[in-house]
Amino acid sequence: MFSRPRLVLGLQPRIFIKPSVASARTALVARRLISNSTCSHAEHNHQKPKLEHLSSGIEERLAHSAHLLEPEHDSQGNELNAYRHGPSALDKAVHLFFFTEIIRGMWIVLENFFRPPYTIMYPFEKGPLSPRFRGEHALRRYPSGEERCIACKLCEAICPAQAITIESEARMDGSRKTTKYDIDMTKCIYCGFCQEACPVDAIVETQNQEFSVENREELLYNKEKLLSNGDRAEAEIAANLHSDHVYR
Ligand code: SF4
Ligand code: SF4
Repeated sequence: MFSRPRLVLGLQPRIFIKPSVASARTALVARRLISNSTCSHAEHNHQKPKLEHLSSGIEERLAHSAHLLEPEHDSQGNELNAYRHGPSALDKAVHLFFFTEIIRGMWIVLENFFRPPYTIMYPFEKGPLSPRFRGEHALRRYPSGEERCIACKLCEAICPAQAITIESEARMDGSRKTTKYDIDMTKCIYCGFCQEACPVDAIVETQNQEFSVENREELLYNKEKLLSNGDRAEAEIAANLHSDHVYR
């Protein structure tokens, strides 16, 4: 971490004490050494034994970096320049002299200036919603007006948050009907299990996500509230279920 400043201090005398020798090439080579992180690793290599108590993953990486720091040699045994694959000093000098990085940065700014914005002016503009979006709950009716729910209580049983409470009674024709269908929306985690479990598509999650209220009691939904949600959004619910029916 502190090797870079030390390296900078170490190079400065060489650059400034002999101005005749400290040509532009020397300065650029020095800058290249400073900007290369591999060089700073070399100074820390002698600290390897101190890190032996760390996990094997770190040791492996350390061993790998030590391997990288070993100087490479050509066929005649001459040490190869470790930075020979990087940009040349001339490349760096050109980029430095012509401010290419600044120009490239300004070009990106200019490009984005003429692009359409990624943001939308919510709530006046709204993004698209998937037909599978899980929002506010609703209970549905048949086109005749009869409630779909048959009080099988599968939704109550599967709800992982235990947010649903159902009470039921038998009707004159022997079928069952709910007398109470409550959902505690403060418990609900919008998992959609109740919708998946329902055999008659009675309980559904609509695409309404804007039902914030000012107190907790308003989020304790009863059967009337759920049925009114279903009546209001029936067309949208039916269209979404139809678009998704091939996957169910
Ligand atoms: S969406 Fe999940 S948590 Fe919410 S009522 Fe349905 S089953 Fe329970
Ligand atoms: S909403 Fe569906 S799953 Fe729940 S009790 Fe009624 S019919 Fe059964």
